[in-house]
Amino acid sequence: MKPVIAIDGPAAAGKGTLARRLAAALGLAHLDTGLLYRAVGRLVLDAGQTPDDPAAAEAAAHTLVAADLARTDLRGPEADRASSLVAKMPGVRAALLAFQRRFAAQGAVLDGRDIGTVVAPDASVKLFVTASPTARARRRWLELQSRGVAAPLATVEAELQARDAQDAAREAAPLKAAADAVVLDTTELDAEAAFARALEIVQSRLGFT
Ligand code: C5P
Repeated sequence: MKPVIAIDGPAAAGKGTLARRLAAALGLAHLDTGLLYRAVGRLVLDAGQTPDDPAAAEAAAHTLVAADLARTDLRGPEADRASSLVAKMPGVRAALLAFQRRFAAQGAVLDGRDIGTVVAPDASVKLFVTASPTARARRRWLELQSRGVAAPLATVEAELQARDAQDAAREAAPLKAAADAVVLDTTELDAEAAFARALEIVQSRLGFT
């Protein structure tokens, strides 16, 4: 049976890049579960409703289709805020759970906030990827710049911290490391070094020599 690898952590810790690269190296499928919450947030906004309206968010979660995950407007401050608001709602999380578990069943790398704790508690390997708020804000700021989005670094850092605080404080599936997760702090690591370390951890946990 193919393994399931759970990668959780706060915003802009480098989970997405790591998850994609691990999946490619191990021949596994990859799901960025943040896209599900981002797409739900977008659908609510499209419908002219507000993302903190539980009925609207839950209805949107039930209509989500795979093509919604390929939208080009799922990144950026508005989508960030909307995703974190809809993600607080137990009804939204429940609606998205079956899809994530079906995806995991084929053997996959999933990244998000609650993969090791809720979506795949029996995952073969769990990584909790983190970095200091300053390092994460700087990475997100550089990413925004590369996409032509100008925003002051201090604003990026404040928004990131607000989203993490909301994700960690919510009652439904809060952001936290699973008890059996390996914590990988990438503050002092570049993308290459983080990937090398993550691959080493995964291979050793999977019993590769
Ligand atoms: O990972 P990303 O930053 O794209 O996630 C966007 C938002 O979706 C997060 O701030 C969080 O509120 C929510 N999320 C979640 N559970 C996941 C993945 C994302 O609550 N597994």
